[in-house]
Amino acid sequence: MTETLVIGDYSDTDKAVLSETFAPLFIASPRTLGTLDKGTRAAVTVVALKGHAPFGADEMDLLPALRLVANYGVGYDAIDIAAADAHGVKVTNTPDVLNDDVADIAVGMLLCQSREMMQASTWARTGEWAAKGEYPLNRKVSGRTAGILGLGRIGREIANRLASFKMDIHYFARSEKDTPGWTYHTDPVSLAHTVDFLVVALVGGKDTENFVSAQVIEALGSRGVLINISRGTTVDEAALLDALEAGRIAGAGLDVFLNEPNIDPRFYDLNNVVIQPHQGSGTVETRAAMGQIQRDNMGAFHRGKQLLTPVN
Ligand code: NAP
Repeated sequence: MTETLVIGDYSDTDKAVLSETFAPLFIASPRTLGTLDKGTRAAVTVVALKGHAPFGADEMDLLPALRLVANYGVGYDAIDIAAADAHGVKVTNTPDVLNDDVADIAVGMLLCQSREMMQASTWARTGEWAAKGEYPLNRKVSGRTAGILGLGRIGREIANRLASFKMDIHYFARSEKDTPGWTYHTDPVSLAHTVDFLVVALVGGKDTENFVSAQVIEALGSRGVLINISRGTTVDEAALLDALEAGRIAGAGLDVFLNEPNIDPRFYDLNNVVIQPHQGSGTVETRAAMGQIQRDNMGAFHRGKQLLTPVN
């Protein structure tokens, strides 16, 4: 009976290495755990988890010998950490290796949104350039003011990139950081009020739900652009859609949404929004590095060694 259960959609390379190293059982989602027979479930000590479906007390109750959940991803908001503690389950994640890719996507969406690169590409491809002439003017990026909501590992990489665009950097975090020349705000409304671009890089989960409230969105104002690479839950999505439709903010660049991948169809009608399918860390190189950290944590667990990147 296998001790390792691999949950989620992995690349062929990751699947092959996982198979060779741990001889695991593969299932698509925690939602199908209950379909495994009791003996199979009772043998599982390690879960390699990928995806955003909830993994909480109910799932842990189905796996009584579980001791490790090795998450594929830095954000572990889908895992109930209090339930893991109560069940004697350690959780690990994959921090740092994805910072650059996620920051790149944030900056890419900001450029794309402000310079209307998607629409301008269509203009050139469909012959409008030849038929109508120059593409209409859009908004400058370099030298403007950026606000980072959550100056953690990824937030800092985004800020570094935007600083090199000669932007004035402002940020919110729970505590002030050692960031000479950057301006700390204790309140997200004050941050939004000050900046042209507000980039959300908070953790997900209950504590940050709707952190970007209707009030924050209003404070950003009709020239402001919201970029979100964190989680759909950090933004009051209904308030955002209302503001985008009414032109009360200029636009948005979004890699994350509520109810992914079945996102609110109101987004499809908005041409002031750049939409990405939650692909922040989605490069061959970074996904390989994430898979390696996940397996290294599993290997450390099996050898009785210290976990590399524990979160509880
Ligand atoms: P991190 O280093 O832990 O930074 C998180 C930031 O959130 C910190 O600035 C932290 O404030 C702030 N924060 C945490 N709890 C908060 C609370 N209760 N209220 C207000 N602020 C709070 O995390 P990271 O590695 O940068 O990752 C950030 C998030 O990005 C992940 O959790 C994940 O959800 C998301 N992500 C998305 C993708 C994608 O593909 N789009 C990929 C990877 C990660 P302090 O600085 O004061 O601690």
